[in-house]
Amino acid sequence: MVSAAPVAARQAPYTAAVTPPVPAFPFPLPALRAALLAWFDRTGRALPWRAGREGARDPYRVWVAEILLQQTQVVRGQVYYDRFLTAFPTVQALAAAPQEAVLKAWEGCGYYARARNLHRAAQQVARNGFPDSYDGWLALPGVGPYTAAAVSSLALNEARAVNDGNVRRVLARLHGEARPSPAWVQGRADTLLDPQRPGAWNEAVMDLGATVCTPAAPRCEVCPLRPWCAASASGTPAAYPAPKVRAPVPDVPVVAVLIGTPQQAVLERRTGTLLGGLMGLPAEPLAAGEVPHDALRRLCARLNARPGPPLGRLTHVMTHRRITLHLYAGQADLPRQTVTDAALSRLDQKALALAAQPTLL
Ligand code: SF4
Repeated sequence: MVSAAPVAARQAPYTAAVTPPVPAFPFPLPALRAALLAWFDRTGRALPWRAGREGARDPYRVWVAEILLQQTQVVRGQVYYDRFLTAFPTVQALAAAPQEAVLKAWEGCGYYARARNLHRAAQQVARNGFPDSYDGWLALPGVGPYTAAAVSSLALNEARAVNDGNVRRVLARLHGEARPSPAWVQGRADTLLDPQRPGAWNEAVMDLGATVCTPAAPRCEVCPLRPWCAASASGTPAAYPAPKVRAPVPDVPVVAVLIGTPQQAVLERRTGTLLGGLMGLPAEPLAAGEVPHDALRRLCARLNARPGPPLGRLTHVMTHRRITLHLYAGQADLPRQTVTDAALSRLDQKALALAAQPTLL
């Protein structure tokens, strides 16, 4: 953790030479806040969920954006956001929609539990109105401390500091902290937050992390925090925070069967927390020691289908697992669906694309 020790001493593992010297924590908060907010006032991004004046943004837009953009870069996520807002322009429209339509509009975003929770929460909001505080937002399904802080500060001007990956990186660098814990980040974020402009402050930190203090190539030369930044002074700002040691991602082998065509196929509704509610090709994970063809026979017995030839194999990486999917053809007298009408996971979309252009094993 950071102490009031000189910056040079704190940065010893990274560099011996520190020039120029920067002020040690605690920072001169008024000057630091003024610098970041002035930068934000000049350069803040005009994003579609920033409709409305500062500190009084549209809560529905902020909420949808914060849920949808988690784990997604803004540029890519904006396409999904526009599609979702077009489908459900108001919380009432979202609340009244069937879950199938919500999942269809969420298609490709992953983390489908978020869409299901957003839908349930929208039904609560449509009945009771938007929450008027951080605690009220936090009580909604699928809303954690980050989203509650974002919506309550941006839409209600409540003094709540957000704490996500961008904030963690910016604050770790500012303080020269290599291994910031979540509690450390939240504490520093709470201290720095401008209580006069909490919504703008959070938007400013988000923008700084996304556009200037980026993971691999921070642009310190244009950064308003540079005068106080320990990592920049070290000469190796990208070394902060230290890379996280990630657990290896387990491999999950799966067989799936295409009965029909890549356009009209037998689909099943998925269960479980990960892809629950989505439709997909009938599939089974391989048991320990099982070869794909045996799993296919097991799958086809369940469906009362006849196994056919292999159509190909693909790998799909999710956050916590790497799926290797062995795709086979199958035959059965079962009802088929138009696949473009169904809400499908990215894995199933890739499988159908593979079937359309099969690479025989
Ligand atoms: S000065 Fe550089 S390292 Fe420090 S916050 Fe700004 S961009 Fe990040």
